[in-house]
Amino acid sequence: MKMMDMTKTSEGGEFSLFTQEEQVIRDTGIMIQTLEEVSGSVRRLAEAYQRAYREQCRLLRISDRQQLELRLANKSLGAQAAELKRLNVALRKEIGLREQLADELRRVAREDALTGLYSRSYLFEQGELEFKRRKRDEAPLSVLMMDLDHFKQINDSHGHGAGDEVLRRFGAICRGSFREVDIVGRIGGEEFMAILPTTGPREACLVAERIRGALEAESISVPSGNIGVTLSIGVTEALAGDASFDQVVSRADMVLYEAKNAGRNRIRVIPLDLAADLSEGVR
Ligand code: GH3
Ligand code: MG
Ligand code: MG
Repeated sequence: MKMMDMTKTSEGGEFSLFTQEEQVIRDTGIMIQTLEEVSGSVRRLAEAYQRAYREQCRLLRISDRQQLELRLANKSLGAQAAELKRLNVALRKEIGLREQLADELRRVAREDALTGLYSRSYLFEQGELEFKRRKRDEAPLSVLMMDLDHFKQINDSHGHGAGDEVLRRFGAICRGSFREVDIVGRIGGEEFMAILPTTGPREACLVAERIRGALEAESISVPSGNIGVTLSIGVTEALAGDASFDQVVSRADMVLYEAKNAGRNRIRVIPLDLAADLSEGVR
């Protein structure tokens, strides 16, 4: 049952204490509800803030760890880069040394140690090249095969050292007698070969005669005294029918043999008909 305390107000309206109380109670209820809602929101906000704070702390720890790892990786990379640089310098030095060595080996392979002329292998290598070039350019190419006469006797009479000195002197004569473009070398023992590019057999015989005459005129000083040496030369040119440089060399060898058989200290040439119109050196 609702209790009513009704009194008259000064304006003549009715004032009910219960009405006011009910309103207050209603308002209080609304306020309590609002406060509960606000406190719920504040709690959720606090929880969200705590979660965010914990997450931030976690991320910060990860970031610190990653930064440390990065610093360590950076340090290790720096050390590796320095090591690589050092290796690179060492490698460059090694490459330089190997190139020097390869150059030296090429020079040794190209040169005859005793005379300073070209080696046998280089002679044949260059001979093949000149032979091919001649075919292409249709320029003449001559070959001189030279062999010292009775060289064994020099060794036997004056010793091997004297023989070596003769070979060295002949090397010097060759170096002073041929053109820059001529390829002159020692095939072995006391046998020498000269490859004369852009030179026909007539001119080649003149060169051969100059060499023959120069050696004949030379008095070579050896420990046992002064000795004279002669040589025989076979001359030929590359012919249209030749299939390789070796074929030209074989023909030069054959004419050299003829020069030996004819009495040594002379030049023989193929084509043979050329010999008739050449100077007296071709005998
Ligand atoms: P030929 O007139 O027929 O050419 O007679 P040769 O005595 O010159 O020829 P042979 O082939 O009978 O002798 C060549 C000699 O050359 C024999 C060998 O001991 C000598 N000989 C080869 N190589 C060298 C060398 O490097 N130094 C010296 N001193 N002698 C060498
Ligand atoms: Mg000889
Ligand atoms: Mg010989």
